[in-house]
Amino acid sequence: MKQHEIKTRLHKRLPISLWARDRRLAAVHEAGHVAIARMLGVPVGLAYVYFTPARDFDPPHCRTWRGKTLCASRLADRRQRAMIGVAGAVAELSWRGEWIDEDYWFEPTMMSDSDWNLTQCVASKPDDNCIEAIRVMAAVLERGASLWHDLLRTARDLIIATQPSLQARAFGQVTWKPT
Ligand SMILES: [Zn+2]
Repeated sequence: MKQHEIKTRLHKRLPISLWARDRRLAAVHEAGHVAIARMLGVPVGLAYVYFTPARDFDPPHCRTWRGKTLCASRLADRRQRAMIGVAGAVAELSWRGEWIDEDYWFEPTMMSDSDWNLTQCVASKPDDNCIEAIRVMAAVLERGASLWHDLLRTARDLIIATQPSLQARAFGQVTWKPT
């Protein structure tokens, strides 16, 4: 099945508002990783969001959009890796207006395996370095905080890059990859 056929089928069952919200949430998550990597001077090679039809599609419980950010994490120290790693989940909570509390992170599903790997701690067992990173990220990514506008702008650019009618844009060190 081609991507646009899947999209058309899903659109019939999925309210457009939910579709857009899913895409926005995926974009905000990746924008969190990007904004923090940029703040720390860690080069970002690629960031994008993509449509993914779940096999057992059951809105609103499953996501129809996911994303990926690749940064030069080998150039980052342990503290910086933890910050970049948790930034996606912190950005999501922030955008949803939810309280950012380190207790959330004791649930393994709080972050993807790749994000847990990036923080260099075991899933659902955030160590002191990780908890400190969550606190620091909450302070800069909260609504109205210093990186809030950067976060929204980057998320918007990621969404624009998913629209095939618009050209993917080069943005600082980030190359947006259209799906
Ligand atoms: Zn992530």
